Amino acid sequence: MGIVQLFTLALSFILYLVDLGTDVYLAIQHYKNGDLLFFITTVAVIGLSTVLVNIYAIRVLKTIPWYLRAILFVSHLSMICLFVSEIRRCVKENHGNEAQCGSSRKHFSKCDCDGCRSRLKESVETSLNVSFVRSMETFIEAVPQWLLQVYIMIHQQSYPWYAVISVVLSFASLLFGVVSLEKITGCT
Ligand SMILES: [Zn+2]
Repeated sequence: MGIVQLFTLALSFILYLVDLGTDVYLAIQHYKNGDLLFFITTVAVIGLSTVLVNIYAIRVLKTIPWYLRAILFVSHLSMICLFVSEIRRCVKENHGNEAQCGSSRKHFSKCDCDGCRSRLKESVETSLNVSFVRSMETFIEAVPQWLLQVYIMIHQQSYPWYAVISVVLSFASLLFGVVSLEKITGCT
């Protein structure tokens, strides 16, 4: 994994957080405007997709004890956890002695020993799993939210700045998810 992947990963993470933030903000605005039905549907989409996405995220976070997973499950923390651990892994695999093989002094991805080969296999697997979760997030969360908010704007004939920003961000998040999916299919 190089600096480009690290940058993409970080950007993908920021987009995920900002997209989630604007969705919540939008829900609050629907409530304030007295659009109870739109408030409920927006919250329902956020809530339902949170649970579904976190089921996938938790499956990837195998090393975490079950009681912690239970907490992560009902929140967005497992996605955040997944991103943070992936960014940390990415940094570790690019810098310093930890990425080097003990005997050959080569980067583990270029070394042919058994230890390095299994490390590379694990690294590729983890990276694919994270890409998979990211693309699942897109189709479970970003797409329905995008459709719902576009529908609401057209229905109300009103295009407030926060709704436009939310739609644009959901779309950007969606693009990143598609790129993630491409990474999966490209590697298999
Ligand atoms: Zn080696």
